[in-house]
Amino acid sequence: MSKEYSAFKQAQQEFDKVADMMQLDKSYRSVLREPSRSLLVNVPVRMDDGSIKTFAGYRCQHNTACGPAKGGIRYSEDVSLDEVKALAMWMTWKCSLAGIPFGGGKGGVYVDVKKLSEGELERLSRRYFAEIQVIVGPDKDIPAPDMNTDSRIMAWFMDTYSMNIGKTALGVVTGKPISLGGSLGRDSATGRGVEISTINLLGKQGIDPKNADVVIQGFGNVGAWAAKLLYDDGCKIIGLSDVYGAVYNPDGLNPYDAIERAMKPEDSVSNLLPGKKITNNELLALECDVLAPCALQNQLTAKNAKSVKAKIIVEGANGPTTPEADKHFVEKGILVAPDFLANAGGVIVSYFEWIQGLAFLFWTEREVNNKLSALMNQNIDKVYVLAEERNISMRDAAYIFAIQRVADATRLRGIYP
Ligand code: NAD
Repeated sequence: MSKEYSAFKQAQQEFDKVADMMQLDKSYRSVLREPSRSLLVNVPVRMDDGSIKTFAGYRCQHNTACGPAKGGIRYSEDVSLDEVKALAMWMTWKCSLAGIPFGGGKGGVYVDVKKLSEGELERLSRRYFAEIQVIVGPDKDIPAPDMNTDSRIMAWFMDTYSMNIGKTALGVVTGKPISLGGSLGRDSATGRGVEISTINLLGKQGIDPKNADVVIQGFGNVGAWAAKLLYDDGCKIIGLSDVYGAVYNPDGLNPYDAIERAMKPEDSVSNLLPGKKITNNELLALECDVLAPCALQNQLTAKNAKSVKAKIIVEGANGPTTPEADKHFVEKGILVAPDFLANAGGVIVSYFEWIQGLAFLFWTEREVNNKLSALMNQNIDKVYVLAEERNISMRDAAYIFAIQRVADATRLRGIYP
Protein backbone atom coordinates (compact mmCIF):
# COMPACT_ATOMS: atom_id res chain seq x y z
CA MET A 1 0.00 0.00 0.00
CA SER A 2 1.29 3.48 -0.81
CA LYS A 3 1.84 6.01 1.95
CA GLU A 4 -1.03 8.09 0.52
CA TYR A 5 -3.49 5.18 0.77
CA SER A 6 -6.51 6.19 2.79
CA ALA A 7 -8.87 3.46 3.99
CA PHE A 8 -11.49 6.12 4.64
CA LYS A 9 -11.25 7.44 1.07
CA GLN A 10 -11.69 3.87 -0.16
CA ALA A 11 -14.78 3.46 2.05
CA GLN A 12 -16.18 6.72 0.67
CA GLN A 13 -15.49 5.67 -2.93
CA GLU A 14 -17.34 2.39 -2.37
CA PHE A 15 -20.24 4.33 -0.89
CA ASP A 16 -20.27 6.83 -3.79
CA LYS A 17 -20.38 4.03 -6.37
CA VAL A 18 -23.43 2.41 -4.79
CA ALA A 19 -25.09 5.77 -4.03
CA ASP A 20 -24.85 6.49 -7.78
CA MET A 21 -26.31 3.09 -8.64
CA MET A 22 -29.18 3.73 -6.22
CA GLN A 23 -29.61 7.34 -7.34
CA LEU A 24 -29.52 8.22 -3.66
CA ASP A 25 -30.82 11.67 -2.80
CA LYS A 26 -27.82 14.03 -2.94
CA SER A 27 -28.74 15.83 0.28
CA TYR A 28 -28.35 12.62 2.33
CA ARG A 29 -25.10 11.58 0.72
CA SER A 30 -23.10 14.19 2.61
CA VAL A 31 -24.62 12.94 5.88
CA LEU A 32 -23.80 9.29 5.17
CA ARG A 33 -20.32 9.67 3.71
CA GLU A 34 -18.84 11.29 6.86
CA PRO A 35 -18.75 9.94 10.44
CA SER A 36 -21.18 11.63 12.78
CA ARG A 37 -18.66 11.81 15.64
CA SER A 38 -14.93 11.15 16.15
CA LEU A 39 -13.29 11.42 19.54
CA LEU A 40 -9.52 11.69 19.98
CA VAL A 41 -8.18 10.99 23.44
CA ASN A 42 -4.79 11.25 25.10
CA VAL A 43 -4.32 8.26 27.39
CA PRO A 44 -1.74 8.71 30.19
CA VAL A 45 -0.53 5.46 31.73
CA ARG A 46 1.73 4.91 34.73
CA MET A 47 4.35 2.38 33.59
CA ASP A 48 5.89 -0.28 35.82
CA ASP A 49 9.10 1.78 36.24
CA GLY A 50 7.10 4.73 37.65
CA SER A 51 7.30 6.89 34.51
CA ILE A 52 4.19 8.16 32.70
CA LYS A 53 3.66 7.41 29.01
CA THR A 54 0.84 8.77 26.86
CA PHE A 55 -0.93 6.93 24.04
CA ALA A 56 -3.24 8.25 21.31
CA GLY A 57 -6.72 6.74 21.40
CA TYR A 58 -9.75 7.06 19.12
CA ARG A 59 -13.44 6.24 19.04
CA CYS A 60 -15.48 6.99 15.96
CA GLN A 61 -19.25 6.67 15.46
CA HIS A 62 -20.13 6.72 11.81
CA ASN A 63 -23.91 6.67 11.97
CA THR A 64 -26.45 5.95 14.69
CA ALA A 65 -29.71 6.40 12.77
CA CYS A 66 -30.65 2.71 13.26
CA GLY A 67 -29.49 2.40 16.88
CA PRO A 68 -26.40 2.64 19.10
CA ALA A 69 -22.99 2.39 17.44
CA LYS A 70 -21.33 -1.04 17.46
CA GLY A 71 -17.78 -1.97 16.60
CA GLY A 72 -14.46 -3.23 17.86
CA ILE A 73 -11.53 -1.60 19.59
CA ARG A 74 -8.08 -2.50 18.32
CA TYR A 75 -4.64 -2.01 19.80
CA SER A 76 -2.02 -1.64 17.09
CA GLU A 77 0.60 0.64 15.63
CA ASP A 78 -1.49 0.80 12.44
CA VAL A 79 -4.34 2.54 14.27
CA SER A 80 -5.09 6.02 12.97
CA LEU A 81 -8.10 8.32 12.77
CA ASP A 82 -8.36 7.54 9.04
CA GLU A 83 -8.48 3.81 9.74
CA VAL A 84 -11.10 3.96 12.51
CA LYS A 85 -13.29 6.25 10.39
CA ALA A 86 -13.24 3.72 7.52
CA LEU A 87 -13.84 0.75 9.80
CA ALA A 88 -16.72 2.57 11.54
CA MET A 89 -18.36 3.26 8.18
CA TRP A 90 -18.02 -0.39 7.11
CA MET A 91 -19.57 -1.40 10.46
CA THR A 92 -22.59 0.80 9.70
CA TRP A 93 -23.20 -1.11 6.48
CA LYS A 94 -22.55 -4.48 8.10
CA CYS A 95 -24.99 -3.91 10.97
CA SER A 96 -27.55 -2.44 8.63
CA LEU A 97 -27.35 -5.39 6.24
CA ALA A 98 -27.51 -7.84 9.15
CA GLY A 99 -30.84 -6.30 10.11
CA ILE A 100 -29.74 -5.55 13.67
CA PRO A 101 -30.52 -2.26 15.44
CA PHE A 102 -27.01 -0.82 15.45
CA GLY A 103 -25.01 1.84 13.68
CA GLY A 104 -21.29 1.61 13.03
CA GLY A 105 -18.46 2.44 15.39
CA LYS A 106 -14.78 1.63 15.77
CA GLY A 107 -11.98 2.57 18.11
CA GLY A 108 -8.39 1.94 18.85
CA VAL A 109 -5.22 2.84 20.65
CA TYR A 110 -1.90 3.43 18.92
CA VAL A 111 0.27 1.01 20.88
CA ASP A 112 2.53 -2.02 20.49
CA VAL A 113 0.95 -4.38 23.02
CA LYS A 114 4.02 -6.64 22.99
CA LYS A 115 5.91 -3.89 24.84
CA LEU A 116 3.40 -3.70 27.74
CA SER A 117 3.30 -5.77 30.92
CA GLU A 118 -0.05 -7.22 32.02
CA GLY A 119 -0.42 -4.39 34.57
CA GLU A 120 0.39 -1.69 32.02
CA LEU A 121 -2.10 -3.22 29.58
CA GLU A 122 -4.82 -3.17 32.23
CA ARG A 123 -4.09 0.45 33.23
CA LEU A 124 -4.02 1.52 29.57
CA SER A 125 -7.34 -0.25 28.89
CA ARG A 126 -9.08 1.19 31.92
CA ARG A 127 -7.89 4.76 31.31
CA TYR A 128 -8.71 4.61 27.58
CA PHE A 129 -12.23 3.39 28.35
CA ALA A 130 -12.71 6.06 31.02
CA GLU A 131 -11.66 8.67 28.42
CA ILE A 132 -14.17 7.48 25.79
CA GLN A 133 -16.89 6.89 28.39
CA VAL A 134 -18.38 10.27 27.50
CA ILE A 135 -19.69 8.79 24.25
CA VAL A 136 -20.04 5.04 24.93
CA GLY A 137 -22.69 3.18 26.93
CA PRO A 138 -25.17 0.29 26.55
CA ASP A 139 -27.64 2.50 24.68
CA LYS A 140 -25.07 4.75 22.95
CA ASP A 141 -22.11 2.80 21.63
CA ILE A 142 -21.13 -0.78 22.42
CA PRO A 143 -17.48 -1.72 21.76
CA ALA A 144 -16.17 -5.25 21.18
CA PRO A 145 -12.83 -7.05 20.73
CA ASP A 146 -10.79 -6.54 17.58
CA MET A 147 -7.11 -6.86 16.68
CA ASN A 148 -5.04 -7.49 19.88
CA THR A 149 -7.99 -7.03 22.25
CA ASP A 150 -9.80 -9.97 23.86
CA SER A 151 -12.40 -11.03 26.43
CA ARG A 152 -10.05 -10.17 29.31
CA ILE A 153 -9.80 -6.56 28.09
CA MET A 154 -13.59 -6.44 27.60
CA ALA A 155 -13.96 -7.46 31.27
CA TRP A 156 -11.74 -4.51 32.30
CA PHE A 157 -13.77 -2.16 30.07
CA MET A 158 -17.05 -3.39 31.53
CA ASP A 159 -15.74 -3.10 35.09
CA THR A 160 -14.34 0.41 34.52
CA TYR A 161 -17.63 1.66 33.13
CA SER A 162 -19.63 -0.10 35.87
CA MET A 163 -17.44 1.36 38.65
CA ASN A 164 -17.92 4.85 37.21
CA ILE A 165 -21.71 4.62 37.05
CA GLY A 166 -22.10 2.69 40.31
CA LYS A 167 -23.81 -0.41 38.93
CA THR A 168 -22.98 -3.41 36.76
CA ALA A 169 -23.59 -2.65 33.08
CA LEU A 170 -23.25 -5.91 31.15
CA GLY A 171 -24.52 -4.25 27.96
CA VAL A 172 -21.64 -1.79 27.59
CA VAL A 173 -19.35 -4.15 25.66
CA THR A 174 -19.66 -7.51 23.93
CA GLY A 175 -17.11 -10.29 23.62
CA LYS A 176 -16.97 -10.63 27.41
CA PRO A 177 -15.96 -13.87 29.18
CA ILE A 178 -18.91 -16.27 29.53
CA SER A 179 -18.80 -15.92 33.32
CA LEU A 180 -19.30 -12.15 32.95
CA GLY A 181 -22.20 -12.15 30.53
CA GLY A 182 -20.51 -13.35 27.33
CA SER A 183 -22.78 -15.27 24.98
CA LEU A 184 -22.56 -18.98 24.35
CA GLY A 185 -21.88 -19.55 20.67
CA ARG A 186 -19.88 -16.33 20.16
CA ASP A 187 -16.59 -18.13 19.62
CA SER A 188 -17.95 -20.17 16.72
CA ALA A 189 -20.32 -17.49 15.38
CA THR A 190 -18.30 -16.06 12.48
CA GLY A 191 -17.20 -19.49 11.22
CA ARG A 192 -20.76 -20.74 11.65
CA GLY A 193 -21.99 -17.79 9.59
CA VAL A 194 -19.55 -18.80 6.84
CA GLU A 195 -20.89 -22.34 7.04
CA ILE A 196 -24.52 -21.16 6.87
CA SER A 197 -23.70 -18.93 3.87
CA THR A 198 -21.95 -21.81 2.12
CA ILE A 199 -24.76 -24.33 2.62
CA ASN A 200 -27.36 -21.75 1.59
CA LEU A 201 -25.55 -20.82 -1.64
CA LEU A 202 -24.73 -24.43 -2.53
CA GLY A 203 -28.47 -25.08 -2.30
CA LYS A 204 -29.23 -22.14 -4.58
CA GLN A 205 -26.72 -23.49 -7.13
CA GLY A 206 -28.31 -26.95 -6.94
CA ILE A 207 -25.23 -28.57 -5.39
CA ASP A 208 -25.73 -31.14 -2.63
CA PRO A 209 -23.32 -30.30 0.25
CA LYS A 210 -22.41 -33.99 0.37
CA ASN A 211 -21.04 -33.67 -3.17
CA ALA A 212 -19.33 -30.35 -2.58
CA ASP A 213 -15.55 -29.87 -2.61
CA VAL A 214 -14.53 -27.03 -0.31
CA VAL A 215 -11.23 -25.15 0.03
CA ILE A 216 -10.57 -22.90 3.03
CA GLN A 217 -7.70 -20.44 3.36
CA GLY A 218 -6.79 -19.74 7.00
CA PHE A 219 -7.22 -22.02 9.98
CA GLY A 220 -7.80 -19.53 12.80
CA ASN A 221 -11.04 -18.73 14.59
CA VAL A 222 -13.07 -18.24 11.41
CA GLY A 223 -11.46 -20.81 9.11
CA ALA A 224 -11.23 -23.65 11.63
CA TRP A 225 -14.87 -23.33 12.73
CA ALA A 226 -16.06 -23.07 9.13
CA ALA A 227 -14.00 -26.13 8.17
CA LYS A 228 -15.26 -28.25 11.06
CA LEU A 229 -18.91 -27.31 10.62
CA LEU A 230 -18.82 -27.88 6.86
CA TYR A 231 -17.08 -31.22 7.46
CA ASP A 232 -19.94 -32.11 9.84
CA ASP A 233 -22.39 -31.18 7.05
CA GLY A 234 -20.75 -33.79 4.83
CA CYS A 235 -18.78 -31.45 2.56
CA LYS A 236 -15.41 -32.70 1.40
CA ILE A 237 -12.69 -30.33 2.61
CA ILE A 238 -10.05 -30.81 -0.10
CA GLY A 239 -7.74 -27.90 0.74
CA LEU A 240 -6.72 -26.06 3.90
CA SER A 241 -4.00 -23.58 4.71
CA ASP A 242 -2.49 -21.37 7.37
CA VAL A 243 0.39 -18.92 7.52
CA TYR A 244 2.94 -21.78 7.36
CA GLY A 245 1.58 -23.58 4.29
CA ALA A 246 -1.26 -25.36 2.53
CA VAL A 247 -2.36 -28.97 2.02
CA TYR A 248 -4.45 -30.60 -0.72
CA ASN A 249 -6.12 -33.97 -0.61
CA PRO A 250 -8.75 -34.88 -3.24
CA ASP A 251 -10.07 -37.60 -0.90
CA GLY A 252 -10.83 -35.05 1.82
CA LEU A 253 -9.15 -33.71 4.95
CA ASN A 254 -10.39 -34.03 8.52
CA PRO A 255 -10.13 -30.55 10.13
CA TYR A 256 -10.60 -32.09 13.60
CA ASP A 257 -7.08 -33.56 13.25
CA ALA A 258 -5.53 -30.08 12.88
CA ILE A 259 -4.67 -27.38 15.42
CA GLU A 260 -6.52 -24.06 15.25
CA ARG A 261 -4.29 -20.98 14.93
CA ALA A 262 -1.00 -22.91 14.88
CA MET A 263 1.84 -20.94 16.42
CA LYS A 264 4.72 -22.97 14.96
CA PRO A 265 5.33 -24.64 11.57
CA GLU A 266 5.22 -28.20 13.03
CA ASP A 267 1.58 -27.55 14.03
CA SER A 268 0.54 -26.25 10.62
CA VAL A 269 -2.35 -27.92 8.78
CA SER A 270 0.19 -28.63 6.04
CA ASN A 271 2.22 -30.79 8.44
CA LEU A 272 -0.51 -32.38 10.50
CA LEU A 273 -2.92 -33.42 7.76
CA PRO A 274 -2.19 -36.11 5.15
CA GLY A 275 -2.04 -34.79 1.58
CA LYS A 276 0.09 -32.96 -0.93
CA LYS A 277 1.85 -29.84 0.34
CA ILE A 278 1.07 -26.91 -1.95
CA THR A 279 1.57 -23.17 -1.88
CA ASN A 280 -1.13 -20.74 -0.81
CA ASN A 281 -1.46 -19.57 -4.42
CA GLU A 282 -1.97 -23.16 -5.60
CA LEU A 283 -4.61 -23.54 -2.89
CA LEU A 284 -6.56 -20.55 -4.18
CA ALA A 285 -6.42 -22.02 -7.72
CA LEU A 286 -7.78 -25.47 -6.78
CA GLU A 287 -10.76 -26.81 -8.71
CA CYS A 288 -13.61 -26.77 -6.17
CA ASP A 289 -17.23 -25.84 -5.56
CA VAL A 290 -16.52 -23.39 -2.73
CA LEU A 291 -13.47 -21.33 -1.91
CA ALA A 292 -13.64 -19.59 1.48
CA PRO A 293 -10.80 -17.11 2.10
CA CYS A 294 -10.79 -16.89 5.90
CA ALA A 295 -7.30 -15.53 6.62
CA LEU A 296 -6.64 -11.91 5.75
CA GLN A 297 -7.31 -9.10 3.29
CA ASN A 298 -6.15 -8.77 -0.35
CA GLN A 299 -5.71 -12.48 -1.12
CA LEU A 300 -7.63 -12.63 -4.40
CA THR A 301 -6.08 -10.00 -6.63
CA ALA A 302 -5.68 -9.00 -10.28
CA LYS A 303 -2.62 -11.30 -10.31
CA ASN A 304 -4.30 -14.57 -9.31
CA ALA A 305 -8.02 -14.02 -10.01
CA LYS A 306 -7.84 -15.64 -13.46
CA SER A 307 -6.56 -18.89 -11.96
CA VAL A 308 -9.48 -19.22 -9.51
CA LYS A 309 -11.70 -22.18 -10.48
CA ALA A 310 -14.21 -22.14 -7.62
CA LYS A 311 -17.93 -21.86 -8.44
CA ILE A 312 -18.71 -19.96 -5.24
CA ILE A 313 -16.48 -17.71 -3.11
CA VAL A 314 -17.56 -17.14 0.49
CA GLU A 315 -15.57 -14.31 2.06
CA GLY A 316 -14.90 -15.23 5.69
CA ALA A 317 -12.06 -12.71 6.05
CA ASN A 318 -12.51 -8.96 5.79
CA GLY A 319 -11.61 -7.63 2.34
CA PRO A 320 -10.00 -10.78 0.86
CA THR A 321 -10.92 -9.75 -2.71
CA THR A 322 -9.54 -6.65 -4.40
CA PRO A 323 -11.90 -4.65 -6.67
CA GLU A 324 -10.03 -5.87 -9.80
CA ALA A 325 -10.41 -9.52 -8.81
CA ASP A 326 -14.04 -8.92 -7.88
CA LYS A 327 -14.75 -7.49 -11.33
CA HIS A 328 -13.20 -10.56 -12.92
CA PHE A 329 -15.33 -12.93 -10.78
CA VAL A 330 -18.50 -11.07 -11.74
CA GLU A 331 -17.61 -11.32 -15.44
CA LYS A 332 -16.77 -15.00 -15.08
CA GLY A 333 -20.06 -15.72 -13.28
CA ILE A 334 -18.45 -16.82 -10.02
CA LEU A 335 -20.90 -16.21 -7.18
CA VAL A 336 -19.25 -14.15 -4.43
CA ALA A 337 -20.82 -13.85 -0.96
CA PRO A 338 -19.27 -10.56 0.20
CA ASP A 339 -17.50 -10.30 3.55
CA PHE A 340 -20.00 -8.02 5.29
CA LEU A 341 -22.73 -10.56 4.52
CA ALA A 342 -20.86 -13.86 4.96
CA ASN A 343 -18.81 -12.98 8.05
CA ALA A 344 -21.58 -11.14 9.92
CA GLY A 345 -22.13 -14.09 12.29
CA GLY A 346 -19.83 -12.50 14.85
CA VAL A 347 -21.62 -9.17 15.03
CA ILE A 348 -25.02 -10.90 15.01
CA VAL A 349 -24.11 -12.98 18.06
CA SER A 350 -22.62 -9.85 19.65
CA TYR A 351 -26.09 -8.35 19.24
CA PHE A 352 -27.49 -11.43 21.00
CA GLU A 353 -24.94 -10.95 23.80
CA TRP A 354 -26.01 -7.33 24.19
CA ILE A 355 -29.70 -8.31 24.40
CA GLN A 356 -28.91 -10.99 27.01
CA GLY A 357 -26.82 -8.49 28.99
CA LEU A 358 -29.60 -5.89 29.01
CA ALA A 359 -32.20 -8.47 30.04
CA PHE A 360 -29.93 -10.34 32.50
CA LEU A 361 -31.41 -13.46 30.89
CA PHE A 362 -29.15 -15.94 29.13
CA TRP A 363 -29.87 -18.27 26.24
CA THR A 364 -28.68 -21.81 25.55
CA GLU A 365 -26.12 -22.34 22.82
CA ARG A 366 -28.76 -24.04 20.71
CA GLU A 367 -31.02 -20.96 20.96
CA VAL A 368 -28.12 -18.71 19.92
CA ASN A 369 -27.20 -20.93 16.96
CA ASN A 370 -30.80 -21.26 15.78
CA LYS A 371 -31.38 -17.51 15.92
CA LEU A 372 -28.09 -16.92 14.09
CA SER A 373 -29.03 -19.39 11.40
CA ALA A 374 -32.47 -17.81 10.88
CA LEU A 375 -31.06 -14.28 10.54
CA MET A 376 -28.12 -15.26 8.33
CA ASN A 377 -30.31 -17.25 5.95
CA GLN A 378 -32.84 -14.42 5.76
CA ASN A 379 -30.06 -11.96 4.87
CA ILE A 380 -28.45 -14.21 2.27
CA ASP A 381 -31.83 -14.88 0.68
CA LYS A 382 -32.76 -11.20 0.37
CA VAL A 383 -29.37 -10.27 -1.10
CA TYR A 384 -29.41 -13.20 -3.55
CA VAL A 385 -32.91 -12.35 -4.75
CA LEU A 386 -32.07 -8.68 -5.32
CA ALA A 387 -28.87 -9.63 -7.15
CA GLU A 388 -30.84 -11.96 -9.43
CA GLU A 389 -33.65 -9.44 -10.01
CA ARG A 390 -31.31 -6.61 -10.94
CA ASN A 391 -28.62 -8.77 -12.54
CA ILE A 392 -25.96 -7.32 -10.26
CA SER A 393 -23.35 -8.91 -8.00
CA MET A 394 -24.26 -10.02 -4.49
CA ARG A 395 -21.78 -7.40 -3.24
CA ASP A 396 -23.62 -4.56 -4.96
CA ALA A 397 -26.98 -5.95 -3.85
CA ALA A 398 -25.74 -6.19 -0.25
CA TYR A 399 -24.50 -2.60 -0.37
CA ILE A 400 -27.84 -1.42 -1.74
CA PHE A 401 -29.72 -3.06 1.14
CA ALA A 402 -27.28 -1.74 3.71
CA ILE A 403 -27.19 1.85 2.49
CA GLN A 404 -30.93 2.01 1.76
CA ARG A 405 -31.84 1.07 5.33
CA VAL A 406 -29.58 3.71 6.85
CA ALA A 407 -30.69 6.33 4.33
CA ASP A 408 -34.35 5.56 5.10
CA ALA A 409 -33.74 5.74 8.85
CA THR A 410 -31.91 9.06 8.47
CA ARG A 411 -34.67 10.51 6.28
CA LEU A 412 -37.51 9.29 8.52
CA ARG A 413 -35.88 10.64 11.66
CA GLY A 414 -35.33 13.97 9.94
CA ILE A 415 -32.49 16.41 10.45
CA TYR A 416 -32.47 17.81 13.99
CA PRO A 417 -33.46 20.57 14.84
P1 NAD B 1 -7.02 -15.68 13.41
O1 NAD B 1 -5.84 -14.88 13.78
O2 NAD B 1 -7.69 -16.53 14.42
O3 NAD B 1 -6.63 -16.67 12.20
C1 NAD B 1 -6.03 -16.25 11.01
C2 NAD B 1 -5.60 -17.50 10.24
O4 NAD B 1 -5.07 -17.08 8.98
C3 NAD B 1 -4.49 -18.30 10.92
O5 NAD B 1 -4.72 -19.68 10.70
C4 NAD B 1 -3.24 -17.87 10.18
O6 NAD B 1 -2.21 -18.86 10.21
C5 NAD B 1 -3.80 -17.70 8.80
N1 NAD B 1 -2.98 -16.89 7.91
C6 NAD B 1 -2.33 -15.73 8.21
N2 NAD B 1 -1.66 -15.31 7.15
C7 NAD B 1 -1.89 -16.20 6.16
C8 NAD B 1 -1.47 -16.33 4.83
N3 NAD B 1 -0.66 -15.42 4.28
N4 NAD B 1 -1.92 -17.35 4.10
C9 NAD B 1 -2.74 -18.28 4.65
N5 NAD B 1 -3.17 -18.24 5.90
C10 NAD B 1 -2.75 -17.21 6.65
O7 NAD B 1 -8.04 -14.66 12.76
P2 NAD B 1 -9.62 -14.81 12.61
O8 NAD B 1 -10.28 -14.26 13.82
O9 NAD B 1 -9.93 -16.20 12.15
O10 NAD B 1 -9.91 -13.76 11.44
C11 NAD B 1 -9.64 -14.09 10.07
C12 NAD B 1 -10.25 -13.02 9.18
O11 NAD B 1 -11.65 -12.93 9.44
C13 NAD B 1 -9.71 -11.60 9.38
O12 NAD B 1 -9.78 -10.94 8.13
C14 NAD B 1 -10.73 -10.99 10.33
O13 NAD B 1 -10.76 -9.57 10.24
C15 NAD B 1 -12.00 -11.60 9.79
N6 NAD B 1 -13.12 -11.61 10.73
C16 NAD B 1 -13.03 -12.28 11.93
C17 NAD B 1 -14.11 -12.29 12.78
C18 NAD B 1 -14.08 -13.05 14.08
O14 NAD B 1 -15.12 -13.10 14.75
N7 NAD B 1 -12.96 -13.68 14.45
C19 NAD B 1 -15.29 -11.59 12.44
C20 NAD B 1 -15.37 -10.95 11.20
C21 NAD B 1 -14.26 -10.97 10.37
